Amino acid sequence: MNVYEVIIIGGGASGLMAASSALSRNKKVAIIDMGENLARKVSISGGGKCNFTNGTADYKKYFGKNAKFTQSVLNHTQPKDLLAWMKNHGLNWVEKKPGQYFCATCANDVVKALLRDVKKARIFNNELVTDVYKRNNEFVIETTKNTFTTKSVIIATGGLSYASLGVSDLGYKTAKKFGHKIIPIRPALCAISTKIFPTELSGISFDVEISIGKEKFLDSMLITHFGLGGPAIYRATVRDIEQDIHLNILPNINIFEWLKNLKAIDGKKSLLKILATKLPIRLSKWLIQNESKNIADYKDIELKNISNRLSNIIIKKDNFKLYSLQTAEVVRGGVSTDEISSKTLESKLCPGLFFAGEVLDITGDLGGFNLHWAFASGILAGENA
Ligand SMILES: Cc1cc2nc3c(=O)[nH]c(=O)nc-3n(C[C@H](O)[C@H](O)[C@H](O)COP(=O)(O)OP(=O)(O)OC[C@H]3O[C@@H](n4cnc5c(N)ncnc54)[C@H](O)[C@@H]3O)c2cc1C
Repeated sequence: MNVYEVIIIGGGASGLMAASSALSRNKKVAIIDMGENLARKVSISGGGKCNFTNGTADYKKYFGKNAKFTQSVLNHTQPKDLLAWMKNHGLNWVEKKPGQYFCATCANDVVKALLRDVKKARIFNNELVTDVYKRNNEFVIETTKNTFTTKSVIIATGGLSYASLGVSDLGYKTAKKFGHKIIPIRPALCAISTKIFPTELSGISFDVEISIGKEKFLDSMLITHFGLGGPAIYRATVRDIEQDIHLNILPNINIFEWLKNLKAIDGKKSLLKILATKLPIRLSKWLIQNESKNIADYKDIELKNISNRLSNIIIKKDNFKLYSLQTAEVVRGGVSTDEISSKTLESKLCPGLFFAGEVLDITGDLGGFNLHWAFASGILAGENA
């Protein structure tokens, strides 16, 4: 009989952590996953190095209708707890950028460690869950191969991004069936298509300061053949994108003062050569439209106009599109947190139904926040299911 005390639908980052914490309470646990291998997104995460947490994880790094929902989950599992988890599993880490922790070896080692923790669970892989419903006091879970019953089910089915790895909307459908609201999903942490730079500049990468709404951040940006990518753009797309994106392509300096000073002390130098000391040459040429004048030949007002242009390239909200769900690392949107307890991750509408990970309307910034959320929410759901 396929009867388990806790059944977890989805064997990704959140589902495996949920299974591990339910097992540590001596529960009889099953994990059902549609794929051949578990934790497939973890295995390709962080460019194969798995950026598994971020030392600055708090609710301000998360997006959704109610990002504060994350706070008690994040208090329960903090970055130091995930570092300790790595250490207990014989894994080291590298802090590539401040607060951004990657596995020192490879993402597959993190997957192996996750799998070691769930050895006592029954794993049903290559098994797509097609329906979840309630019969009397228990949940019935129908798959393409079996029927399962349980008193506690954890929905850890992830988002719909990166569909080539195998995704489904079962989590959203199930939540809806039990009365939960779904916040419409869209791609996030992804490239954008825009014609702001010409395609002949594709391949150029440089640091920019992005302003979107009230937020400002500095990171590298890549010009692609269809638009823009790179961490700076990824970070813009996870925010509310119904607004213009402003780029400062020479951040951290007062461009006008810098140019005016060079005009005074090195007037015979061409503007092109000057810009090329701080920006890629191809980009510099395009910015000044191949003009070959010396800096002394520019009036101050012209330098002012050039400075304004470099410090505020505006990508109007109607002039860009999120590139695609297929290539996005995550989705914004998902199961609304309104009807879910932030203390247990149990549905307030249907006792015994729990949610963890990306299926919820919680999305983290770039930098390890999404896996942190998946792990932390999985642990909490597994402790309560
Ligand atoms: C290329 C890429 C790189 C990334 N790098 C990072 C990174 O370095 N750091 C970071 O923090 N985040 C990263 N992310 C995001 C992170 O991987 C996800 O947010 C996280 O894996 C979500 O975990 P989850 O458990 O909620 O869902 P998932 O890991 O997506 O797991 C969901 C599981 O549910 C299963 N499933 C779905 N529907 C069904 C069904 N009907 N029946 C049975 N099984 C089902 C799926 O097969 C899947 O195994 C990256 C994402 C991508 C795509």
